[in-house]
Amino acid sequence: MNRIYDSKELNDLLGIKFLVLDKGFIEVIDYMGNDKKIVDSARTSYEEKSKRINDDNALIRYMISHYHTSPFEQNVITFRIKVPMDTWRQWIRHRTASVNEYSTRYSIAIDDKQETLFNQWRLQSKSNKQGSSGFLTYDDGYLLTKREKELHDFSKEIYKERLNKGIAREQARKDLPLSTYTIAIWTMDVHNLLHFLKLRMDNHAQYEIRQYANEIAKIVKIWLPNTWDAFENYILNSIVLSQEEIYRISNKDSIKFESNREEMEFNEKLKKLKILLSEADI
Ligand SMILES: Cc1cc2nc3c(=O)[nH]c(=O)nc-3n(C[C@H](O)[C@H](O)[C@H](O)COP(=O)(O)OP(=O)(O)OC[C@H]3O[C@@H](n4cnc5c(N)ncnc54)[C@H](O)[C@@H]3O)c2cc1C
Repeated sequence: MNRIYDSKELNDLLGIKFLVLDKGFIEVIDYMGNDKKIVDSARTSYEEKSKRINDDNALIRYMISHYHTSPFEQNVITFRIKVPMDTWRQWIRHRTASVNEYSTRYSIAIDDKQETLFNQWRLQSKSNKQGSSGFLTYDDGYLLTKREKELHDFSKEIYKERLNKGIAREQARKDLPLSTYTIAIWTMDVHNLLHFLKLRMDNHAQYEIRQYANEIAKIVKIWLPNTWDAFENYILNSIVLSQEEIYRISNKDSIKFESNREEMEFNEKLKKLKILLSEADI
């Protein structure tokens, strides 16, 4: 029997590995639901209201823009991912997923490490303590890449030495670098997945996890086109204005922001608004 809420587009992607970083991947291994399931679930719970919104797409846009999030929880997706442990550390902070991970207590650690090319060494940002800005010179980059290779080789040698002496895998692994890849099965509903994407596609998120989030975004766009359009419009590319920012824009008040960061972020928003205005003018 065919599934009621099927996605031919996503069926075509099942089991395909989308490569991320140098040796990572993301692969959809299962899913439940489609755009239609979201609107049907909403109509069950909001029958009175939704009578006024007959069009499926309009209903999805209404729900996303008014935070009627529970119908999006009816759809679920499962990924198999291969990801370096430092990126995984950030990823696993999203508690609303169901997770199973490759066990380095039970099995020998995956041999792959994330390697950095000579032109990929990012410099510490001066304005954002959590961020990077610009790149190291190629000459220095060559040296760091060479030193990284030495470190990876050395840690592998030590790990093997411990295993050969009969040390338990749970202890032998303790000095493996965070660049070591791990594999996990990660299942999340669409409400929480969109929240994950909002946070991890943002340019404040670290480059590496952004690469995974961008791949997931492409998959969600194919799977749930109406949901994706509404999410892009009302959440991902929207601008949130604080009360003080509204006062500043409407000249109601000449208040100063608490910090340089607030001033900087306000200016970024103004810049973005201008760009949008000028694009709309074209
Ligand atoms: C740019 C960036 C920088 C970050 N920097 C740091 C850092 O320096 N240090 C650090 O420790 N973390 C940091 N984080 C992690 C961040 O604080 C969150 O832990 C992470 O993004 C997961 O977000 P979440 O809790 O909203 O998601 P999820 O865990 O998926 O939860 C989704 C939502 O469910 C609800 N929820 C889940 N669990 C609970 C709960 N126990 N109680 C109440 N509500 C709950 C909340 O509404 C939450 O937003 C950073 C994240 C980002 C994106």
